[in-house]
Amino acid sequence: MIVIDTASERETLAFARRLGEQAKAGDVYALDGDLGAGKTVFAKGFAAGLGVPGTVSSPTFTIIQVHEGGRLPLYHMDVYRLSDEDELEAVGAEEMLRGDGVCLVEWACLVRGLLPPETTRITIEKDLARGTDFRRIRVEYGSRA
Ligand code: ADP
Ligand code: MG
Repeated sequence: MIVIDTASERETLAFARRLGEQAKAGDVYALDGDLGAGKTVFAKGFAAGLGVPGTVSSPTFTIIQVHEGGRLPLYHMDVYRLSDEDELEAVGAEEMLRGDGVCLVEWACLVRGLLPPETTRITIEKDLARGTDFRRIRVEYGSRA
């Protein structure tokens, strides 16, 4: 497990960018943390590390945003608005979760049962006692067969 503290959005972007640079085909990243924790900021940095061109914004309303044009396809999901796991399957996410691209799932705790065991779990937490821009980011690698 990796634990890193960031003091600004810029630091979170830079950390996520490094993970994006290291991502491999088929990787799944579960992103958890409260509203405003920095999951989408993380996704932006990660996408930059993958070489995704253009703007990466929150897929809250579309559920899935597909970004081509980087080193690997990026499937950026935000499952906050789904009522259950079946709905995620209905929008074609299963293929993406088992495909050769890279999946980043915001609010992954809501669809835990659909994620492969090798999923990398990333949690972002605030600690207001340490300032409004402080974030603690935990990265836990999943089981690899
Ligand atoms: P989420 O997707 O988790 O709901 P966002 O990434 O959309 O959250 O928003 C995070 C907000 O927190 C942004 O407004 C960002 O500028 C701010 N922020 C402040 N400090 C940090 C930090 N250290 N890391 C990431 N975001 C930060
Ligand atoms: Mg978000």
